[in-house]
Amino acid sequence: MNVVETFGKVVEKAAAKSPSLGRGVLRTGWELEDLAFQYRPHRESYPADQYLAKLMMDAMLAPLRSPDESAVCSIFTPCELVHEAGLHPYNVEAMSCYLSASFAEQGCIQAAEDDGLSDTLCSYHKTFVGAALNGLLPRPRCIVYTNVTCDANLLTFSKLADIFEVPSFMIDVPMSVTDESVRSVTDQLHELKAFLEKTTGRPIHDDDLASRVARSQRTLQRFETYQRERADKYVPADLVTPLYSAMTANILLGTPEEEDYVEKCLRDLETAPPKKGKTIYWMHTIPFWSSATKDYFLFKEKAQIVGDELSEVCNSDFPTTDPYEGMAYRMVHNALNGPIERRINAGIRHAKDVHADGVVWFNHWGCKHTLGASRIAQKAFQEAGFPTLLLDGDGCDRAHGGEGQTSTRLGAFLEMLEA
Ligand code: SF4
Repeated sequence: MNVVETFGKVVEKAAAKSPSLGRGVLRTGWELEDLAFQYRPHRESYPADQYLAKLMMDAMLAPLRSPDESAVCSIFTPCELVHEAGLHPYNVEAMSCYLSASFAEQGCIQAAEDDGLSDTLCSYHKTFVGAALNGLLPRPRCIVYTNVTCDANLLTFSKLADIFEVPSFMIDVPMSVTDESVRSVTDQLHELKAFLEKTTGRPIHDDDLASRVARSQRTLQRFETYQRERADKYVPADLVTPLYSAMTANILLGTPEEEDYVEKCLRDLETAPPKKGKTIYWMHTIPFWSSATKDYFLFKEKAQIVGDELSEVCNSDFPTTDPYEGMAYRMVHNALNGPIERRINAGIRHAKDVHADGVVWFNHWGCKHTLGASRIAQKAFQEAGFPTLLLDGDGCDRAHGGEGQTSTRLGAFLEMLEA
């Protein structure tokens, strides 16, 4: 048993004795990890990715340090409003990943299933709900979520509102990508402003919000430039950096820190050597915990993951004269909203930007829309010239298993790309 595995067991035991003890142990462990990112960053990573690892750890610690100044959010919530309300985004998917990385997800999943959640529900949701049920995660000030792009959100977030007994706000984004949908979401975002002002007792100033949303646009534009310019360059990659970048591109969008990260990425490219090995564009979440996946992609020159769709679901081409309309446009035009062709076409465009040699479509267990679209996606990517692997697995729940199959399928796919 390695040290992190032992840590997970200690967290679970402590939480069983007393929720506050469990929270204390979890927070202490993450604080130590945060110090390690600061003083002993991963030497193989470039400076931008070292900065990102710390940025993400800080974002995870903020709700543990000040839960009453935090709002539980789903990944595609427009967090500019949450930040302007002075709240930290307390993100469900990311928290579940960190619990999994700390080997503490199994007890949470079990608690959620014991409470009646189906074993076919996505493990990100079950992990967070279980952690809320057993008191490992603290009570937030409020909850803000959206149905983009996940139907499971409707169940999970209303359940979380009951568990934590806090007010919640849902942004209902219609599936049709039309101006009328943008108007409907714009109205809801004005209501969200009023909700957050009432919940926190703090006013949100539209001028400050407009500057923040303009920064979001600049950041997305620069990230698009980065993705295009990294084609044919070698940037050492691990399995978590694309996930971190997917998280911060959503929950920290509009912050100066996220803008700094993207500028650092561009600076790193100035000295990056030419491309080495095969490059993979990854669709959906990444099983960062899987040894089989690490064997092929963890700082390997033979093959790297050079982009993940979740960091590129929002284009930078949204209007900014009215920040509410801009955020609404971004939500409605999210690549994962509407018919599946929108998601697939965005993936093909982004895979072309980075000159990917192949694509992996990851069928995360429990993610119905990803599983349901996989065959159509494979055909479309292949017709666009990208050999595409459909890989089954679970991004969060290690008990899902299937390591042997993951290794065989990834190995055969990379061999095929080399041939
Ligand atoms: S993996 Fe799928 S089901 Fe799970 S949170 Fe993401 S979109 Fe929802």
